Amino acid sequence: GRKLLMIPGPIEFEPEVLHAMGRATTSHVAPDFIECFGKSIELMREVWRSPQGQPFIVAGTGTLAMDMAAANLVEKDDRVLVISTGYFGKRYKDIMDRYGAKTTILEVPVGEVVDLDAIENELKNNSYKALTLTHVDTSTGVLVDPEPIAKLAQKYNCLSILDGVCSVAGEEINQDDWGIDVVLTGSQKAIGVPPGLALLVASEKAMQVWNNRKTPVGSYYADWSNWRPIMKAYEERRPSYFGTPPVNLIVALETSLKIILKEGMEVRVKRHHELAKAFRIGLAALQFEFLPESNEISANTLTAAYYPKGVDGSALLAKLSKDGVILAGGLLPELKTSYFRIGHMGSVSSNDLIVVLSSLERALIELGHPVKAGEGLQAFQSELLTKN
Ligand code: PMP
Repeated sequence: GRKLLMIPGPIEFEPEVLHAMGRATTSHVAPDFIECFGKSIELMREVWRSPQGQPFIVAGTGTLAMDMAAANLVEKDDRVLVISTGYFGKRYKDIMDRYGAKTTILEVPVGEVVDLDAIENELKNNSYKALTLTHVDTSTGVLVDPEPIAKLAQKYNCLSILDGVCSVAGEEINQDDWGIDVVLTGSQKAIGVPPGLALLVASEKAMQVWNNRKTPVGSYYADWSNWRPIMKAYEERRPSYFGTPPVNLIVALETSLKIILKEGMEVRVKRHHELAKAFRIGLAALQFEFLPESNEISANTLTAAYYPKGVDGSALLAKLSKDGVILAGGLLPELKTSYFRIGHMGSVSSNDLIVVLSSLERALIELGHPVKAGEGLQAFQSELLTKN
């Protein structure tokens, strides 16, 4: 039967995007495809709000985008500061370590964000080449405010790399204004394209730092020396080749970027914010508690909530799945069985969240949890109605 995919990526994609993807595959140097690739590069700059940035569109996942930033910007023995709010922060440390960086990781208990003072202290006392931060850590649902951290990085002449896999096109991002050197993502989240594209935009400063490297990039595939000329060629609407681009995914990307920009980034971010807030209010009415310790640091693209006491988590998710609603389990190894995650980004609507809430209500009642049918929906509806 029909399923509603409400995990934090891949998400439900717009029908136009899936239709675009199903078009006959053309040559990667066909004039129409060159136009599509070139246009996608231009539209990325608008979504990222980085008129000066250098976009890269490469076949791969979000992890490749993380890897690409590390491979090109970091050399052996460079100091890197990893600001971690969960699983994907730790992944960035592993990636940096692989390229021989001297990494320091700043960690916090689950649900908290790293103190700005602690970050400044590190930057003041050591000469860091780069810092990494995760905008939304998908394992905890914690939202980090990138702007003050990027400003600190600039103050101490350190590059800033933002893992925006769970945020780009869902949370507010102003890459150039905030002075972030790399903002990266994967296609399957709020960008709204099936998995398979690594996307990033690098600042002029990042490109200079890369240009001034003393040692060659340690990854052949990720090396910007190979990809920069390709991005330049497509943007100038010239044919070129390094590795065959995933033609269908890029046709889908252009379609989705147009849908995103037609809605408008401000309206889109506001929609994510209002739905996320109302959804948390609905869940709270059903006695759910959240991993992020406050609303201010709660993501608008997904919600991570603990199972209520006495409720068997896997039974709950199984009931929803039977009902056609697919949610995600926990990702942090230490808490895996005590919480779950709901994605609400990209094409998500209030009606999708009503389906999730009503299905959760019935499943909870069937599992003996003391809530009443309609309690979560009532709270959700009331919150949305106060908006109008
Ligand atoms: N960073 C974050 C914040 C993510 O949510 C994910 C994917 N869940 C990744 C990185 C890795 O992306 P991918 O799975 O596409 O490699």
